[in-house]
Amino acid sequence: MGLKIYLNGKLVDASEAKISVYDHGLLYGDGVFEGIRSYGSLVFKLKEHVDRLFESAHTILLKIPMTKKEMMEAVVATLKANKLTDAYVRLVVTRGTGDLGLDPRKCDKATLFIITDKIVLYPERVYREGMEIVTVPTPRNLPEALNPQIKSLNYLNNILAKIEATNAGVQEALMLSAHGYVAECTGDNIFIIKGGALLTPPPYAGLLKGITRGCVMDLARKAKIPVREEMMTRHDLYNAEECFLTGTAAEIAPIVKIDGRTIGSAKPGTVTLRLMKAFRALTKTDGVKY
Ligand code: PMP
Repeated sequence: MGLKIYLNGKLVDASEAKISVYDHGLLYGDGVFEGIRSYGSLVFKLKEHVDRLFESAHTILLKIPMTKKEMMEAVVATLKANKLTDAYVRLVVTRGTGDLGLDPRKCDKATLFIITDKIVLYPERVYREGMEIVTVPTPRNLPEALNPQIKSLNYLNNILAKIEATNAGVQEALMLSAHGYVAECTGDNIFIIKGGALLTPPPYAGLLKGITRGCVMDLARKAKIPVREEMMTRHDLYNAEECFLTGTAAEIAPIVKIDGRTIGSAKPGTVTLRLMKAFRALTKTDGVKY
């Protein structure tokens, strides 16, 4: 038997989890989503993810057909139904079925589904030896046009960057703002260590305020590492002591080469390793138990 999918209030077999070709999530990318992880039967930062999902939906005037509490219960129920203790959870809410026009008022009811599955984003070697990234030609969306805090189903900007990275023979892309400042990667935030401090670009550089990003900033502060949000250029990255990415799927992934320049010692740095350890410990204790 395949995995069970939560679809519009019911748990159905993955082979039966189907939505209409008239769904505006599919026709226009009109919808929002979240990616969540569970570790050892603990859902990590569940409330934060559900809050962000509801904020994304609120901004695009999309009514989610359940409360936050019900949403959290639905996530847990789906994980339990699939007997998954360590999983990746994809929560998706689309505008629902409408007609061929853009008008969201034609869509009566949102479509809501939850997929729980396994995910391996980067191979284990990345975490031991670090990863290489390149700057790609496609800049991050203009935040004035499409606010990156809306975690919407429109990911073509990021997908184009991912294709460019793959074409360049690396796994991940560094995306700049339209003004040439460092923004983020295709599904991860970026950090550097410089002068012993932890630096990351501010949200107004045009990036998603990642939940892992916030978590790593908190861990650093607790470890008495100074933390600052600063606009940065590629020059700042090339001359950093250490560099890493953060994301729900990626967790903390060390970066050792950017655009052919080695970063620091060309190995995962000591502060990065320390934060990776602290993060792993947190995922073992912090979360909603099921
Ligand atoms: N930036 C983008 C564009 C993302 O899509 C994501 C997560 N999917 C992140 C950053 C990282 O956010 P989080 O730590 O909340 O997963």
